Amino acid sequence: MNTNFATLLIDWFEENKREMPWRKTSNPYCIWVSEVMLQQTQVATVIPYYIRFMERFPTVMDLAEATLEDVHQYWQGLGYYRRGENLWKGAKVIAERWQGEFPRDPKLVSEIPGVGPYTLGAICSIAFHLPLPAVDGNVMRVMSRWYCLSDDIGVAKNRKIFEAKVMDNMPDDPNRFNQGLMELGALICTPQNPKCEECPVKSLCQAYQTGTVNDYPVKEKKLKKVEEKYYALMIEKDHKIGMIKRPEDGLLANLWGVPLIPEKKWQEAGFEQLDFIEFDSVNHIFTHKKWRMTPITVKWSKSLIECMNRAEINEDEIVYYDESKLKDIPIATAFKKVLKCVQIKLN
Ligand code: SF4
Repeated sequence: MNTNFATLLIDWFEENKREMPWRKTSNPYCIWVSEVMLQQTQVATVIPYYIRFMERFPTVMDLAEATLEDVHQYWQGLGYYRRGENLWKGAKVIAERWQGEFPRDPKLVSEIPGVGPYTLGAICSIAFHLPLPAVDGNVMRVMSRWYCLSDDIGVAKNRKIFEAKVMDNMPDDPNRFNQGLMELGALICTPQNPKCEECPVKSLCQAYQTGTVNDYPVKEKKLKKVEEKYYALMIEKDHKIGMIKRPEDGLLANLWGVPLIPEKKWQEAGFEQLDFIEFDSVNHIFTHKKWRMTPITVKWSKSLIECMNRAEINEDEIVYYDESKLKDIPIATAFKKVLKCVQIKLN
């Protein structure tokens, strides 16, 4: 065990840690919510969402008793909606299996839906002071540089290697050690231009000592995002707009949007013959793909429904909303961008 590294890191963390609402508590539910929100999302973005979410769902039981629509409302704008859904499912499991009491046994915590190795380590070390690694991208970067590890941080099976390195250094204060590693990765050992001169562990860092910081971490370049092109149909009927709920599985599951027609099907299904207005395209980027959507406004007609049938869109699934009611349903950000093109107000 290298207590030197842990001691230097923890001392630095105590002096430099940022104020965050979830750092004022050791309640495992709060830690869990914050860690899930922080996945793929910046701290500054998460803070207002976290505060609002905790006001509305202050305990596991409050979350378990809410509807999924309600949870989506509070997740709107934060992205990666599956995370909110998993939290809700997890809360239901905790309510049913443990009467709302968060389990302390790591094996049981790992059985909560959506809790992967990182979240497990974060909850157990921060809330329960258990010596488990919490290895995210920040921590992998620090470990990779500190040990000059050439294992690709983008390869899932390599996570174990980084976890083992964290465990080699785990002191008897896992809470502050893990948080210190995350904070060092976020503030000092950053992806670009790490601030090595200010780093509390530079005397022990192999990459720094050998002048090879820029060689780590090793990560193969990802393939370019696939672009998918759609026409986004905004159907007007009796001064209302047609909205459709996304399927239960897949991208933006269970959220609301407008019908999307793949560009290939647009002509095939005969939409070009209709009377419509076309707007400039909007883009929405996901982790692995990009949607390019061309907003279209079109009045409801029998011919439109025939085109939709040919494009395999079932009219029965379309619900017509007054513009003023749109704020009451969880609409995915991608579709909000489309609605904004026609000046529809969503607040
Ligand atoms: S010395 Fe530089 S590369 Fe090494 S851990 Fe510190 S910030 Fe990262």
